[in-house]
Amino acid sequence: MSVFDSALAPIKALTPYLPGKPVEELERELGIAGADKLASNENPLGCSPRVHDAIRRASEHVQLYPDANGFYLKNRLAARLGVSPAQITLGNGSNDVLDLAARTFLDAGTEAVYSQFAFMVYGLVTQACGATAQVARAFDASHPQPCGHDLGAMLALINDRTRLVFIANPNNPTGTWLARDELGEFIDKVPDHIAIVVDEAYFEYVDVPEYPDSLNWLPAHPNLIVTRTFSKIYGLAGLRLGYAISSPELADLFNRVRQPFNGNSLALAAAEAALDDEAFVAHSRETNSAGLRRMQEWLADRGIDFIPSVGNFVSVRFGERSPRVYEALLESGTIVRPIANYGLADFLRISVGTPAQIDRLFERLEPLL
Ligand SMILES: *Cc1c(COP(=O)(O)O)cnc(C)c1O
Repeated sequence: MSVFDSALAPIKALTPYLPGKPVEELERELGIAGADKLASNENPLGCSPRVHDAIRRASEHVQLYPDANGFYLKNRLAARLGVSPAQITLGNGSNDVLDLAARTFLDAGTEAVYSQFAFMVYGLVTQACGATAQVARAFDASHPQPCGHDLGAMLALINDRTRLVFIANPNNPTGTWLARDELGEFIDKVPDHIAIVVDEAYFEYVDVPEYPDSLNWLPAHPNLIVTRTFSKIYGLAGLRLGYAISSPELADLFNRVRQPFNGNSLALAAAEAALDDEAFVAHSRETNSAGLRRMQEWLADRGIDFIPSVGNFVSVRFGERSPRVYEALLESGTIVRPIANYGLADFLRISVGTPAQIDRLFERLEPLL
């Protein structure tokens, strides 16, 4: 019994975020080398080669604090996105920005709304603020977007205590997505004093004409916060840099709440270089689209159920065999991600790898089916 027990009950109730198994850990455990990590939705192509030079140059000045305002990166992002630099908030990964939104809007007695099966971090940051989560039932297995966000159910949970709504588009771990019309209508219906986070971590990967660019809704909706990241298509997950685009009013609030140097100097330099290499991004997108199509076709051909995805991953229903399939893949050198912690114990989430990694995945999976 500790003196902290009652005061910190909400914190003790938190379940720590469960990351994918690091490659080094698996290789150490199994005494192997060259494992394929398809567990954390990282870019299997690495990052732009320009990033390495940028980091090398920036490394000569690591004794200095980083530019606390990320002047150059914000300007470059603003020009690229057609917004003003005053609308951008940088974060130590977009997870940091999600946390900033929670800390800005939530405290005990207030509520956040998000969907069942939504990205785990929404629940973590909500609970860490002592706020109450209202979790909307997701679509069922027979819906065209199985396990996807049901915006009607989310709207029904909004009440006087609601301060924040989290939407992932597309969502991780389901890969489900919301079309322009339905999401636009939802944003119109949410009262202006409630902040809406639209988490677009996989924005650059999505290859569907009806997928919206949420930035178009910013001028009419000063309560909207769009989050994106350098962790996914840009291949900089290890450097931790994400950002929000919002009204200048909200960006000003986040700027008060954030840690002063929440984007480090190597990450800032790397992100600028990564943003400029449009050919690398295009190549990553094409490789992913082809790999995702190949994986989904392979599964469909074998009658294996999966949630149709527009991200760089697909969640596959192996049913009761899921833990065994996970272990067997691990032992043969492919790390995938169990998602039982999302209430999806029947599924394993598999990131889209390089063509060679996908070949090996199929080879290793075939005998297990
Ligand atoms: C990967 C991911 C993020 C990005 O996290 P970072 O902190 O930017 O690395 C955000 N949201 C979702 C839904 C994700 O899957």
